[in-house]
Amino acid sequence: MNLKNTFDKPTNFIRNIIDEDLLKGKYNKVITRFPPEPNGYLHIGHAKSICLNFGTALDYDGYCNLRFDDTNPSKEDIEYVNSIKNDVKWLGYDWNEEIKFSSNYFQKFYECALELIKKDLAYVCFLSSEEIRDYRGTLRKPGKDSPYRNSTVQENLKLFEKMKVGELKEGECVLRAKIDMKSSFMCMRDPTLYRIRFETHHQTEDHWCIYPMYDFAHCIGDAVEGVSHSICTLEFQDNRRIYDWILENLDAFNKPDRPYQYEFSRLNLEYATTSKRKLKLLVDEKHVSGWDDPRMPTISGLRRRGFTPASIRDFSERVGVSKVNSLTDISILESSIRDDLNSNAPRSMAVINPVKLVIENYPQEKVESLLAPNHPQNEKMGSREIFFSKEIYIDKADFQETAPNNKFKRLAIDKEVRLRNAYIIKALRVEKDDNGNITTIFCSYDPETLGKNPTDGRKVKGVIHFVESSKALPAEFKIYDRLFLDPNPSKFEDMSMVLNPDSLIIKNGYVEPNLKEAEIQKAYQFEREGYFCRDISDKGLVFNKTVGLRDTWNQ
Ligand code: ATP
Ligand code: MG
Repeated sequence: MNLKNTFDKPTNFIRNIIDEDLLKGKYNKVITRFPPEPNGYLHIGHAKSICLNFGTALDYDGYCNLRFDDTNPSKEDIEYVNSIKNDVKWLGYDWNEEIKFSSNYFQKFYECALELIKKDLAYVCFLSSEEIRDYRGTLRKPGKDSPYRNSTVQENLKLFEKMKVGELKEGECVLRAKIDMKSSFMCMRDPTLYRIRFETHHQTEDHWCIYPMYDFAHCIGDAVEGVSHSICTLEFQDNRRIYDWILENLDAFNKPDRPYQYEFSRLNLEYATTSKRKLKLLVDEKHVSGWDDPRMPTISGLRRRGFTPASIRDFSERVGVSKVNSLTDISILESSIRDDLNSNAPRSMAVINPVKLVIENYPQEKVESLLAPNHPQNEKMGSREIFFSKEIYIDKADFQETAPNNKFKRLAIDKEVRLRNAYIIKALRVEKDDNGNITTIFCSYDPETLGKNPTDGRKVKGVIHFVESSKALPAEFKIYDRLFLDPNPSKFEDMSMVLNPDSLIIKNGYVEPNLKEAEIQKAYQFEREGYFCRDISDKGLVFNKTVGLRDTWNQ
């Protein structure tokens, strides 16, 4: 059995608990589960939970189950089930055996409910939902017993059967645990275990019309699967009492090696929301193009944006596991992907805001073939063919007629710069349209400077990128910014109030010809511009900007 000192990851309180449990011999295998409700696409918060559950189990040679928490028949959809499976796999994890559904255990939940009724620990209650709330009291005021609390076991069995066979109406009654109406934990004041719902379930269809509540189903699901450590987020902290109460009162599960629940803080990311309901609203109200819009903090959005599974796993590791709720700085996510792509993305050149540049002393018909390294520090990544001729494109931002100061490292009239992977050029003059916009920059080049410095000792510090015009491929660039203007958009009920109107800017420019067959989602570093990947699009070459080269948030 592995213990924490056998792996190089920083430890956390959950690993400490596992270590202790293993030392005491409480379990002989670490079994976790990831239990998404299939009512939306997974987001970066889920990714943290996935990395924690699957990653921890893997570290200890255990396993993790993927269990769809589908106890709520409405809202759930098979489209979500499929996207969730896909996202977990993409992140690099595999679940144990086949996928689990809470609905697989409906019969088991029902039998457990019967056991509690027979032990006089559960009763059918006909109070309306408002009355139940009222009877429950408040933090300061103890609750009042329901008038149905003292029905006999026989009566409760009969009524529960009626609920099950559909003889009672939706909302007419519920099954409640008989715990303690005066408990200082509100959730222990006779929580609801089962309710009636005449709805078709996507797995069990019309077989059931009673559905268990999350608190009842979750712990039993864990116990049935032999889960050892049931890791969830902090909002379930109080509910841990119900979790324990239920398992301790069911004979089959009241054992030392039963599952126990541990809570960690949710991930909240700056300038994003991790509420599925709010993400769905953004999709439904068409503020974004879909769940996989590259501005969405969903796993599918991040994938389309160019994030790699390794970068998301690294991010989860960096943010760590704690019990303190906080807003995570978005630059942590960005530096995870930047670090990955800096080592792994091949370099290429793209001109996003093109302006034509003519080299007057270059031969008219000549198109020269040059070799450019794919990675400046990694020769193993090889090189590619680029082209050079009399007419090229450079970025508008790389030229000013007059250099503003001596530190200006780009092109200006009478100044020299190096064209990346090619020659040194000097700007001579410009041509403008009627509106005063520069249409062509005229230059000369120094033929002796391909891959070497000028022999007369001239120092040319600036380097700019370019694309040769006859072979350049037109491309669209989608440049993303944060979707919201406020770092904590979730605090606004109507988040559309704080949408960033410039979260997507589309530019049309050029890329090198070897990107003709660029793979979808494969990342490139467009030199001096940032990391980009090809978008899923039938419009030809479209590139999504994944992230800039440097952190520019705080500038
Ligand atoms: P909803 O409230 O819509 O049900 P949820 O966030 O609870 O959303 P689930 O699908 O139930 O979503 O979540 C599956 C698992 O992912 C749960 O164990 C949950 O604790 C975890 N999880 C969800 N959101 C986050 C988050 N922001 N950070 C960390 N873990 C999360
Ligand atoms: Mg949930």
